[in-house]
Amino acid sequence: MKWIKAESVNFKYIFPNDDIMKEEGELFKTNITLLGEKSNPSFDFYKTLQSGVNTRLAIFKNYRLKTLRGDYVPLYDTPYCIIWPDDVNLTELDKKVANDCFSDEDFRRSIRARMVKIVLCRNCRSEYMGLVVDSSEVYTVETEKTNFDYRLGSELLDNKIKNYKFKKCPNCNSPFTIYVAKIFYECEDKKFTW
Ligand SMILES: [Zn+2]
Repeated sequence: MKWIKAESVNFKYIFPNDDIMKEEGELFKTNITLLGEKSNPSFDFYKTLQSGVNTRLAIFKNYRLKTLRGDYVPLYDTPYCIIWPDDVNLTELDKKVANDCFSDEDFRRSIRARMVKIVLCRNCRSEYMGLVVDSSEVYTVETEKTNFDYRLGSELLDNKIKNYKFKKCPNCNSPFTIYVAKIFYECEDKKFTW
């Protein structure tokens, strides 16, 4: 794992060969989650995303908790998934990050996503396991200039949402009512299709 800064946002980049099993304590002991424990994806699922063709895990600081003195307590969310379009070469990016020679451009086409258990198509009622950009959550992630570069309404997140090619329902081609960055499988057959 390595603390890096890309597109003005500081986060911990997790490499495919990082022993997150060993790091599990660190990853999860200080985290907070809005979803609740039962909604968290399995640890195996995190490991799959850790070395995906177009996915990596990352940990962001979160300053949501304000103390009585008015300062903010840094907390750590459960790992997010950073996802790129399919044609990205993440093996190359891993090397660049390790050698400190990456640039903002390497992350420009990426977007940060949460894992959710079920994505529902409102049209045909199909259900999928997918990665979703949670735009209902107000992100307050530490950055150099402000703490708000990755919240809804920020230039960074708005540009990413505008430029990312979000998924439609594989069954009926309807757009989802939420931003679905990746679909893993339809919930009926429980098979990975990526
Ligand atoms: Zn559908």
